[in-house]
Amino acid sequence: IVSRLPTVGTTIFTVMSRLAQECGAINLSQGFPDFNAEDLLFERVAHWMRAGMNQYPPMAGVPALREAIAGKVEALYGTAYDVDGEITVTAGATQALFTAVAALVHPGDEVIVFEPVYDSYAPAIELQDGKVVRIALSAPDYRPDWAAVAAAITPRTRMIMINSPHNPTATVWSADDMASLAALTRGTGIVVVSDEVYEHIVFDGARHESCARHPELAARSLIVSSFGKTYHITGWKVGYVVGPRELMAEFRKVHQFNVFTVNAPVQYALADYMADAGRHLGLAAFYQAKRDFFRDALAGSRFEVLPSRGTYVQLARYHAISDEPDAAFCDRLTREVGVAAIPVSAFFADGRDERVVRFCFAKNEDTLARACERLRGV
Ligand code: PMP
Ligand code: GLN
Repeated sequence: IVSRLPTVGTTIFTVMSRLAQECGAINLSQGFPDFNAEDLLFERVAHWMRAGMNQYPPMAGVPALREAIAGKVEALYGTAYDVDGEITVTAGATQALFTAVAALVHPGDEVIVFEPVYDSYAPAIELQDGKVVRIALSAPDYRPDWAAVAAAITPRTRMIMINSPHNPTATVWSADDMASLAALTRGTGIVVVSDEVYEHIVFDGARHESCARHPELAARSLIVSSFGKTYHITGWKVGYVVGPRELMAEFRKVHQFNVFTVNAPVQYALADYMADAGRHLGLAAFYQAKRDFFRDALAGSRFEVLPSRGTYVQLARYHAISDEPDAAFCDRLTREVGVAAIPVSAFFADGRDERVVRFCFAKNEDTLARACERLRGV
């Protein structure tokens, strides 16, 4: 077989979660909560299953859910998306991102991404025979260099994929960053794919700069989000994409043959749940408290924690502990210390290793406390 993805192995999330399980380690690697979602959600899913909503829902998603999404996005960010033509419910953010790339990237088109980059982006681009153009973000502050972005834009640039709050660096872009992006794309045909799955998890009073807050960017953006992060249901794999009609029409041409549609009772249940428009309120404070708890508990260790301004992950340097490469360090940490983390080199195509690891703090305090007790011992 001639592989379509010759350099791709198994995703680091699968590798580390599997190792954590094999070793009985506390799993702070793959990002998911170890606590449950609210009972009301489960009641609503059961209700809609019993009510017979178990057949194919509309291709773009259940209308009530699309209405709830439109209401939330407009209330928070000020852009009104048409429920019929500008919102599609997807099988998580991963499918939305993949479908957006498949729908819009032609062979030879260039797509700009920021490295460290979430691991699904580059394979999606490469499968379309697109060219991945990487802009490096560097420890410890991981700020985008807009001059470098300007220099990377060519007549072949078809798309820029952004992600704020950013996984894995936990950085958050400012309004100035969005203005820079708007200025660089002005007058071009570049589409922005904005991965906003952590839109509600921004700390220390900062504001999430959705592309939907910036009309010029909104007009060229497909914005992706995920219910997994917001409602503690990563395993349900439901998300959505919003964007202007012309982009959405292309998106749906692929979506209809990629998944066609998404889990019906879960969509109805989410629509009910979102009827309380304040559901996401408190999520930032909830995770900020976990971040602070985790950082405080790591304070007595030899890890050097970097800032975490959003998402539910925390980066740490370990140079005072070891000079091993990050992958070897994470492997040993899992096996010998009993705590699994993600090596950040996994998010660089060339394996660039700044000796930084990523911990997920979307865990009960008890889990975090037990993990930190172990981490203080290394
Ligand atoms: N993008 C980013 C930045 C993520 O961190 C994740 C998952 N944690 C996803 C996309 C995928 O989201 P989903 O599980 O909804 O596919
Ligand atoms: N997005 C999650 C993380 O960053 C993992 C999702 C996955 O396993 N694909 O840890």
